[in-house]
Amino acid sequence: MKVGDRDRICGRHSGIPECCIDWYTGPWRNLVLVVPYLWDLHWKANYRSAEPDYIRCPPCVESNRVVEIKECECHEDR
Ligand SMILES: [Zn+2]
Ligand SMILES: [Zn+2]
Repeated sequence: MKVGDRDRICGRHSGIPECCIDWYTGPWRNLVLVVPYLWDLHWKANYRSAEPDYIRCPPCVESNRVVEIKECECHEDR
């Protein structure tokens, strides 16, 4: 199992929208995280108008869509 798979599965457990999971496991991890300028830009945008507990994808930031995060039980048996 790849690292991203676990994030995807637990993202679903947490109720994170599929579009944001796609963004987080794809462009975010592969592009934004390694380009400090992009990271800074998106990080600020993500928290500018709301306080989400997850990284939102650009369209969700744009439309200011935030979902309530549910507790994911996978992390409890660590
Ligand atoms: Zn989980
Ligand atoms: Zn989204």
